[in-house]
Amino acid sequence: MSAPEDTIFGRIIRREIPAEIVYEDDLALAFKDVNPQAPVHILVIPKQPIPQISQAQPEDQLLLGHLLLTAQKVANQAGLDEGYRLVINNGNNGGQTVYHLHIHILGGRFMTWPPG
Ligand code: 5GP
Repeated sequence: MSAPEDTIFGRIIRREIPAEIVYEDDLALAFKDVNPQAPVHILVIPKQPIPQISQAQPEDQLLLGHLLLTAQKVANQAGLDEGYRLVINNGNNGGQTVYHLHIHILGGRFMTWPPG
């Protein structure tokens, strides 16, 4: 497979554009969404640019688990004791706009269901 396209999130990882980073380790970065849909809206991304969840490979298993546990850690750090929602939008019909895999952490209010 050819190298994935660079995105705005690649530029955030490389500190080429600013973001409110709340967590970082060797594999992942978490930062506040620029257009928050809830009182807490944080994105967790892998530093390795997998474009979307539908393109993840079996060898990404450990990284994908790490991203979920990172989301848990960041949600705890944000004090979301009453609960929160994790969302991965995939592709056009999933509403994905940035093709660098990311987990949305949404919290600080009651999240309705079904989502729009
Ligand atoms: P998607 O629609 O792909 O699931 O989510 C992309 C998210 O990235 C959106 O919620 C959008 O507000 C956020 N976003 C897009 N560009 C930027 C940016 O430059 N900085 C930050 N912090 N968030 C961004």
